[in-house]
Amino acid sequence: MPILVMKFGGTSVADLDRIANAAEKVKREVERGYDVIVIVSAMAGKTNELVKWVNETSGFYDAREYDAVVASGENVTAGLMALRLQEMGVSARSWQGWQVPINTTSQHGSARFVSIPREHIDAKFAEGFRVAVVAGFQGVSAEGRITTLGRGGSDTTAVAFAAAFDAERCDIYTDVDGVYTTDPRITSKARKLDKISYEEMLELASLGAKVLQTRSVELAMRYKVRLRVLSSFDETDETSGTLVCDEEEIMESKVVSGVAYSRDEAKITLFTIDDRPGIAAAIFGPLADAGVNVDMIVQNISEKDYDEAHSGAVTDMTFSCPVDQVKLAKKAMEEAKAAGKIAYDELIVDTDVSKVSVVGIGMRSHAGVAAKMFKALSAENVNIKVISTSEIKISVLIDRKYMELAVQTLHDAFELEKSV
Ligand code: ADP
Ligand code: ASP
Ligand code: MG
Repeated sequence: MPILVMKFGGTSVADLDRIANAAEKVKREVERGYDVIVIVSAMAGKTNELVKWVNETSGFYDAREYDAVVASGENVTAGLMALRLQEMGVSARSWQGWQVPINTTSQHGSARFVSIPREHIDAKFAEGFRVAVVAGFQGVSAEGRITTLGRGGSDTTAVAFAAAFDAERCDIYTDVDGVYTTDPRITSKARKLDKISYEEMLELASLGAKVLQTRSVELAMRYKVRLRVLSSFDETDETSGTLVCDEEEIMESKVVSGVAYSRDEAKITLFTIDDRPGIAAAIFGPLADAGVNVDMIVQNISEKDYDEAHSGAVTDMTFSCPVDQVKLAKKAMEEAKAAGKIAYDELIVDTDVSKVSVVGIGMRSHAGVAAKMFKALSAENVNIKVISTSEIKISVLIDRKYMELAVQTLHDAFELEKSV
């Protein structure tokens, strides 16, 4: 029988009624002739609660125990989903990550897949079971310890299973009915896309659109998984939602196809650093070693000044990272300074910034996107603090209080509410 993967996010399994609603959708696909692999998230809010409990118990916690705790939310929903399906007369069995086993690396909190052996689930399907319910977000390391894949990781579990089981499609059921031109919670003008390319979705996800975890899009792109995002609350059929697919499948597209934001960013500036070969390596090496995800970087113009104290030219360096990594970053810089590896006069942290980005494959062949973006923001008096660009995106760092305004302004400026 053809295999279908169906993933239900937190809001889609938030209580027993919603689990029953999701189970109805699964049953319908079974009746259509699919063997179904269901990937479930924890009930909405559960993972946050578990993370909070860990933080309240232990400041610098043991990541192995963090994973042992936060993976548990998915175990509950997997069992409940299997029970609900059984009650509906559908033969279903649940699996925790270690039972499959979903083999991962041992980077606790952000583990990556190593392998997903099919034999146990295939054997169950061969016995006549029609549904395998698998706990998302978790796996098991070579050491035999429970691991988790990073927040939002159930999306990635779903895509990995779709690839491993040659599924016809991977359907991601969530609380929105597809991928929009921007987060529909920020502007009611956001428009649902029928299709979006892997590349654009990858950028949107990595720039903050949490509708899909970035890794899930990477995997889908690599293994050519047909990935669909759709609503678990609406009536849905084969044509519902948004299909994430190859660029070639999309007839026409706009220069800019979406706007993404990342709310909780921080900006760190090191004032008066030596302007010499190796200085960037001396700064970003320790940050990388400390596990800081440095995002945007700007260095002031070189040879700005000659500074007696530094006995040479000096400059300033600014970078951004997630707010919750500021402590880590500051510590890494202070240690590097104390060890004499870098020198700076002052370290200034701004934790009230957000990143707003426009994304579109059309940018490859169109000039003027940056100019249009900056003009639109300036018309609203939004000051840009840092800029970074790549082939298909432009990002700006701005004061957090302007984030919503910036998203709405850019959505208007690029006329995203209108279809091509
Ligand atoms: P789940 O719990 O089902 O995994 P998430 O909360 O992780 O759901 O992701 C769905 C949310 O992603 C939506 O409620 C929406 O607010 C947000 N989102 C952000 N950007 C977009 C976008 N471009 N299109 C659709 N949803 C988006
Ligand atoms: N429950 C996990 C989280 O909230 C994984 C997921 O829902 O995808 O991050
Ligand atoms: Mg999610």
